[in-house]
Parts: sequence; structure tokens; C-alpha cells
Amino acid sequence: MALPTTRIGLAGLAVMGQNLALNIAEKGFPISVYNRTTSKVDETVERAKLEGNLPVYGYHDPKAFVLSIRKPRVVIMLVKAGAPVDQTIKTLSAFMEKGDCIIDGGNEWYENTERREEAMSELGFLYLGMGVSGGEEGARNGPSLMPGGSFEAFKNIEDILLKVAAQVPDSGPCVTYIGKGGSGNFVKMIHNGIEYGDMQLIAEAYDVLKSVGKLSNEELQSVFSEWNKGELLSFLIEITADIFGIKDDKGEGYLVDKVLDKTGMKGTGKWTVQQAAELSVAAPTIEASLDARFLSGLKEERVEAAKVFKSGDIVTDQPVDKQQLIDDVRKALYAAKICSYAQGMNLIRAKSIEKGWDLQLGELARIWKGGCIIRAIFLDRIKQAYDRNPSLANLLVDPEFAKEILDRQSAWRRVVCLAVNSRISTPGMSASLNYFDSYSRESSPANLVQAQRDYFGAHTYERVDIEGSYHTEWFKLA
Ligand code: NAP
Repeated sequence: MALPTTRIGLAGLAVMGQNLALNIAEKGFPISVYNRTTSKVDETVERAKLEGNLPVYGYHDPKAFVLSIRKPRVVIMLVKAGAPVDQTIKTLSAFMEKGDCIIDGGNEWYENTERREEAMSELGFLYLGMGVSGGEEGARNGPSLMPGGSFEAFKNIEDILLKVAAQVPDSGPCVTYIGKGGSGNFVKMIHNGIEYGDMQLIAEAYDVLKSVGKLSNEELQSVFSEWNKGELLSFLIEITADIFGIKDDKGEGYLVDKVLDKTGMKGTGKWTVQQAAELSVAAPTIEASLDARFLSGLKEERVEAAKVFKSGDIVTDQPVDKQQLIDDVRKALYAAKICSYAQGMNLIRAKSIEKGWDLQLGELARIWKGGCIIRAIFLDRIKQAYDRNPSLANLLVDPEFAKEILDRQSAWRRVVCLAVNSRISTPGMSASLNYFDSYSRESSPANLVQAQRDYFGAHTYERVDIEGSYHTEWFKLA
């Protein structure tokens, strides 16, 4: 018996694809599914049955899969970024027709999406690069979706995306048309860079509280749970509190203490930092989080270096007022987070200007409020800041954020100083503080750098008192 036709298909049934397919089916849109390794097709169909007889129709053959979808066809791909995407497009497009649409939901490099969109458009196909955030849980129950590329393609499936995305009361579905070209992938990439910053800042807060404040896991769980009721309320703070409460099922004590201090990564953080350099936008907090991951990977070298410098011993002779420390760290974490988001938003704006994407920063903050890893109450404030002033130069100078930073800066400085004197590295919090101090200071020592450049390279300089470009033969005067 022939399977019914559907409006949409999904190819690539690993963690993300399988869950997104079930989500789409559950929202009332029958879906055709396909995967190169066919056992995953059967697995997905089986799951669909178990999770309430969801209308998911599996195909082992790519031709049958494509032909099961009504025209104009929409196929979402969720396969590994890079060559697998090209291979999947080649396999599927052989059976597709003009007007059909392919959506890449993976973490793809935005220029690959632009190349593919152009190639597809020459063949009469529509193409979208859609960032999908929220991991497995988000994909299944409602992710944050960042579709960019063909507007016509977006309109074709807007009704599906609006239902499938996370729903936030008062803010609506966590999806919006991002913009042209590879903007959806670019925005998702920066979202991931911001996520690196958030995770690093939280890890530093943990380190200071644990190593200097000597807080136990029980205390850390209660502190983070408390923080999750206020300005820091967010998914990452919530799961951090959970982590401190989980006991080791293979031995004594807590699981978090048994996890090797070595961080993995898949590349979007590195791309974000590369883009910061390309665009000449300062993103020191995000860069510090990436560097921290690189250094974490050198576990064996760190163990040897610790012997050389005996850095196992924390040099702290100051008595610590625990409650004051907890309060200071909360304030430092929040202030540092504002700086990190300011950097991410500035990266997006710089790229938007370069590419003519006209990205709406406040709208991006809105669609990150639900479904995604960086979801947080704080994003409301970012949205409001850009609503107040869409051409805000930097989040730091929004009057509300400026006040919040001023209210917290003494605590923030205390935490960074305490960490420095205790040999606890806080690269993210310090980078944010230096970013704030550099950005908010009228004068800087760059006069000397420019003088040096002119001295050895005749690069010229401007003067503070007279207009024009100057060169001095410094060595003759020295
Ligand atoms: P993944 O491990 O990145 O990729 C596995 C999928 O890619 C499988 O369906 C696999 O098919 C397919 N694949 C690999 N090479 C292929 C090729 N040469 N030709 C055709 N198919 C190929 O899966 P994932 O974790 O679900 O992620 C999918 C995409 O979403 C990625 O771009 C990822 O970066 C992004 N993403 C992931 C998460 C997450 O939390 N995991 C969150 C957001 C975004 P086979 O089964 O045949 O090997």
C-alpha cells in the first residue's frame, strides 16, 4: 500500500534530525524521513509509533523519499556540516524539481550556505540555511530557529516553523526570518560563540566559589538555584545547579568532581573568534572562552607545569566572608555577561553592515528567549535596549545596562582581584572587565603605539590638537 504524501521531509536522522522530525509530526504536519544509514529510518519510525503514533513516514530510498513529498517540496537536512551536506544535496536534488526547497538545519559555515544557495537558485531550487538551537531537547520540544536565505522559501514553510519553534509567553514563537544569504547560519554561529562565553563565565564563578570560598557541591547547588530566581535566570544556570546535585553512580561523591577537566568543541566558537578578527570587532570574552578550552585540552602539560610551579597550592591568606563572596561573584558574573553579549551583538551588527543583511538585533534577542541553550530572562533586557535605540553603538551604553554595570563594578573588581591574588584564572571575567574599562575610558595608551608605528614604519599619526596626518623622523630627534 502506498504511503500518504506529505508536505515536508527530513533527511539526516541523528540526534537533531530524529527529534526535529518527531516535533514537526507532533505539531500536525505529517513528515517523510530519510537517512543514509537506513537503520536510523526504522528507528525514527519506531519512536514515532511509541511517542503517540505520530505521522512519520520512513523511506530507505532517496527517490521514494523525495517523491513522497507534495510539490513544492520542502526538505530539511540535518547532517554533518561540510561535505556531507553537499553529498546529501546531490543525492536528493537528483529527484527534486524547480520550485522545491532545501533547508540546511546544521551548524554550517555561512559562506558554504551562500555558495549552495546560488548554485541551487541557478537550478530553480530555493535554499535556506537555518540555525537550530536547543540540542536534542530543543529539537524535540521546541527549538530556537534562525532561518536565512530565500524569503520565498521561508514563506512556504513559515506556518510549520511558527508551530515547531519554542513558544515563549508574551514573546511569541522563537523564530523569525533572519535575513538574506548565510545570515541564519552566521547568527547561529555567534549564538554559539556567546554560549561559549556564558559557559566559561559560569565555570569561573564556580571555580572562585569552590577554590577560594570553599563551597561544597551542596552549597553550590543552593547558590546557583538561588541565582536562577533573579537576573541570572537562565537555562545554563539551571542545569549548572542540577549538575552540582548529581551523585556519582560509579563511586563515592558527586559526578561533577569525577569529570575530567578537558573541554571538547566542534568549531563554531573558533569560527566566531576568526570572524571577530576578520571584522576587526573586539570580542575578548568569547576569545578567552575559546582559549580556556584550548588550555583545558593540555591536561598532561598542565599536570607537569603544576609540578614546576606548585600551582596546586592556592596562595590565599585573606579571610573570606562567604556570603559577601557569593554576592560579589553573582554581580561579577552578571556584569561580565553583559560585556560578552555586547561583543556578540557587535559582531552580528558588523557582519550585517558588511553584507547588507539588515539584521534586527532586538528580534534576535527575542528568538533566543526560548528553546536555545542561551535562553535567559536577561535577553528581554537586550531586546528592550535595542527597542529603545535600534542603532545603539554598544549594549554597555544603554542607560539601563550602564546603570547595572555601575552598580556591580566594585564587586566585579573585587572578584577579579581576589582571583588574581589566589592564582585562580578568570579569563572571561577579566576580559570582560578589561573590555569595559577600555571601552569606557576616554584616553588610552594607543598614542604610544601609534608613535612607535610612525617611528619604525612611517605609518603617520593624527594629533589631538591640529587636524591632518603627520609623520616625524623620530630617530633624528632621539
Ligand atoms: P551529526 O553527528 O552532526 O551528523 C550525523 C548525521 O549526518 C547522520 O544522519 C549521518 O548519516 C549524516 N551524515 C554524515 N556524513 C554523511 C554523508 N557523507 N552523507 C550523508 N549523510 C551523512 O548529527 P547531529 O548531532 O544530529 O547534528 C546534525 C547537525 O545539527 C550538525 O550540523 C550539527 O552541528 C547541528 N547541531 C547539532 C546539535 C546537537 O546538540 N547535536 C545542536 C545544534 C545543531 P549516517 O547515519 O548515515 O552516518
